[in-house]
Amino acid sequence: MGAPSQHSNTPIFQNSCPEQSDGLCSMEKRKTIIRKASALLAWPGAVGIRIARGPGIRILMYHRVTDEHEDRLSVSPEEFKRQMDHLVSAGYRVMTLAQALAEGMERRSLPDVVITFDDGYQDFYRNVFPILRERNFPAVIFVVPDFIEGKISLPRYRDSRSVTWEMLREMREGGIMVGAHSVTHRELTGLDSREAKLEIEGSADIIEKQSGERPEWFSYPRGKYSPIISRMVQNSGYRGAVTVRPGSNRRPYDYFALRRTEISRDDDLRDFRMKLSGAYDIQHYLWQKIMGKRL
Ligand SMILES: [Zn+2]
Repeated sequence: MGAPSQHSNTPIFQNSCPEQSDGLCSMEKRKTIIRKASALLAWPGAVGIRIARGPGIRILMYHRVTDEHEDRLSVSPEEFKRQMDHLVSAGYRVMTLAQALAEGMERRSLPDVVITFDDGYQDFYRNVFPILRERNFPAVIFVVPDFIEGKISLPRYRDSRSVTWEMLREMREGGIMVGAHSVTHRELTGLDSREAKLEIEGSADIIEKQSGERPEWFSYPRGKYSPIISRMVQNSGYRGAVTVRPGSNRRPYDYFALRRTEISRDDDLRDFRMKLSGAYDIQHYLWQKIMGKRL
């Protein structure tokens, strides 16, 4: 990861306002510009923190890689490929969660990177798996058994389909680990303990039955969890759980509240580099705190 000045010849805001007759940007464009500008300002500080405290483990969180939808959670396939190429060219180590957490205290300038996908949409099989396999990158895909089996649709993309069990079995051979994301994608903090246990343990049971391997990692639906829920996940035999809390993970690791960095559609390569550096962490933290925003 270089300093921001390395790319001073590229325009600061690649996604800035298009020419408009009234000379005004839409509200959305304005927000994007403010977001990108504040990350750019935070970048040198983030690099400083990384140098002082060590790079830690940066767990990337994706949902979809598709051009079918143009919302925040759908990264375009071209951009995703560029991001993966950047990880290769910049010398990042892309590891499984277990490998990354087991690594020693080796001093490195770059964080180790773990790639995760939530919900298990079918575009993962079409648009993600070939790109990861080409680069020999492992990843975890957090799936929802009732979504796979067509019993529910996920509210954000009513028309979208899940990966199939067969696809998951095929991809496992190519380094894709299957994690659990509950049985029905309900927020666990709103359930009584019997229901929560069914979601947590039940998803592991179904995944194990269908894929032949018990999932080691859990992703809290909509990022909602509590100490009780975390303990339940731990007691169900998982090795750890990921959240939507921003930031990189440093020792001592909070195994059942691992932080992740969301990659979104309007991230260009500079945003991606800034996110790897942690320049977006404070902004994401404040956004979640102030807006109560959850994914
Ligand atoms: Zn989800």
